[in-house]
Amino acid sequence: MEDQKKEEYEKICFMCRRPESKAGKMISLPNHICVCQDCMQKAFDSMQASGFTFPDPENQTNVTSGTNTGHMPNISMINLSDLLGSIPRQQQIKKKKPKEKEPQKAFDLKSIPAPHKIKESLDDYVIGQEYAKKVISVAVYNHYKRIATGMTDEIEIEKSNMLMIGPTGCGKTYLVKTLARLLDVPLAIADATSLTEAGYIGDDIESVISRLLAAADNDVERAEQGIVFIDEIDKIAKKKNATQRDVSGESVQQGMLKLLEGSEVEVPVGATNKNAMVPMATVNTKNILFICGGAFPGLEDIIKERLNKQASIGFFADLKDKYDNDPDLLSKVTVDDLRSFGMIPEFIGRLPVIFTLQGLTKEMLVKILREPKNAIIAQYQKLLALDEVELTFDEEALEAIAERAMEKKTGARALRAILEEVMLDIMYEIPKDDSIGSVRITRGYIENTGGPVITLRNTPVPLLGSVR
Ligand code: ADP
Repeated sequence: MEDQKKEEYEKICFMCRRPESKAGKMISLPNHICVCQDCMQKAFDSMQASGFTFPDPENQTNVTSGTNTGHMPNISMINLSDLLGSIPRQQQIKKKKPKEKEPQKAFDLKSIPAPHKIKESLDDYVIGQEYAKKVISVAVYNHYKRIATGMTDEIEIEKSNMLMIGPTGCGKTYLVKTLARLLDVPLAIADATSLTEAGYIGDDIESVISRLLAAADNDVERAEQGIVFIDEIDKIAKKKNATQRDVSGESVQQGMLKLLEGSEVEVPVGATNKNAMVPMATVNTKNILFICGGAFPGLEDIIKERLNKQASIGFFADLKDKYDNDPDLLSKVTVDDLRSFGMIPEFIGRLPVIFTLQGLTKEMLVKILREPKNAIIAQYQKLLALDEVELTFDEEALEAIAERAMEKKTGARALRAILEEVMLDIMYEIPKDDSIGSVRITRGYIENTGGPVITLRNTPVPLLGSVR
């Protein structure tokens, strides 16, 4: 079994760390060490240059120095295997599959679900955000169709990298995660705030590809068709009035250009930074779908300013505060607004699909609690069902939870925290008492003014619970 697993991974040159597919046939040495022919040749050359020759097997006398040993003076041979140990699995590169297996490609033209099918599947998990789901379904469909058709035609379909704009906790990451799971492609999620220009403290831009490779189980081919989600992209906006070198803002945008467009990058396998002991793999980013997301605080003001300026010209000048309470203001974003925000034009140019997500309303939050396939409420119900207790929530109680979440202004993320807090006592007290048959959570309980309604087994009259 272990041997078969080993077969699936490429041999890596101990000296230059290149995999067999790049460095050519490896020479196997004892203790699972492999050296490529280039390095082996270099080693011989440098030994010869330093006056070393191999002993003549005939008379055991060294040809050049006349001594009877093959070792260089004052140099003892190191046991390479002591240094190396065995390379950990996470740093090994999976061998490319042989070509004849090609027809089994994951993305065949026919096997990509149509956009409406993709959206239907997303509907099961993501509440609201109809427009975003539609855009993302079409873009993903086109993207994978583009991969399936290949680039042999004269008409080359351009890559549809995306930029998602929406307030925090409205489901940006969740949308991408759900999508990657449905399509069964590897996904890497990176935070733009941790990225810096190569050579500075922080992660190199290319480290995101390294993460994608890890998500693809070090299978380069699979990684090359994956999705990279870069969150908090608004944090790498060009700094206004910067006096120092902007290593984490504009330079990161610059650095990402070639990745977004498609290029070959050498990435360390099983680590996020390059160093001498880590093997390298070459990943082509041409078919990797990049999705960037951010909340872009302050962008609404930029849009409003532009709209007001346009509206105040001419006879039919609008009122100045026309856009002040427009809930859809963000969806009126243009490339120019993003440029004013601090994104460089080349960067935005490489993200042709730009769309916005709405902030979550109270009604949407209630639905998020109840409707998705793995709804939070359903999770608690399942937990209590294991104790044979039925858990229900009053409609009013769900609204109360949503109202509390709205106050926190962190979108749907607040829901889980509130429920954890509210359910703590229930989860603690209920399993104590075997006679409890069902629990109904009321608005009063959420607002700390009452208790849950507890019904005992075989008792038709509900009791007002005293939990809390
Ligand atoms: P962000 O927009 O900041 O990336 P996330 O996608 O991380 O927010 O959302 C946090 C959590 O909130 C998700 O894990 C998910 O459970 C829930 N959530 C957010 N929006 C939705 C939505 N529209 N439908 C269902 N669940 C959602």
